[in-house]
Amino acid sequence: MHEMSLCEGILGIIEEHAQNQGFKKVNALWLEIGAFAGVEIEALRFSFEVITKNTIAEQARLHIIDIPGTAWCMQCSKTVAIKRRFDACPHCGGYQLQITGGEEMRVKELEVE
Ligand SMILES: [Zn+2]
Repeated sequence: MHEMSLCEGILGIIEEHAQNQGFKKVNALWLEIGAFAGVEIEALRFSFEVITKNTIAEQARLHIIDIPGTAWCMQCSKTVAIKRRFDACPHCGGYQLQITGGEEMRVKELEVE
């Protein structure tokens, strides 16, 4: 389950911020997760709970922000929204798409005290 290592990464980011900014507790956390990031939200929530036990993020509420998948269609010469990585272009039905968004996962915001 790679969500575990993802959460370890997230916790690392949080602890780095805590060191730089001197906060002691995280109340909430907003995570942006792209449609193609390959993250199971339920697994992520579970992993987050396990990983953050006895850390400054133990009490943190986890908010997930879904980032839709987008791709550049060469035939249409524009950016289109797609649901799955290998979907056809919703306008022309072509498959000459280059993924431009939805692969990212990042910590967007922390609510701390
Ligand atoms: Zn197209």
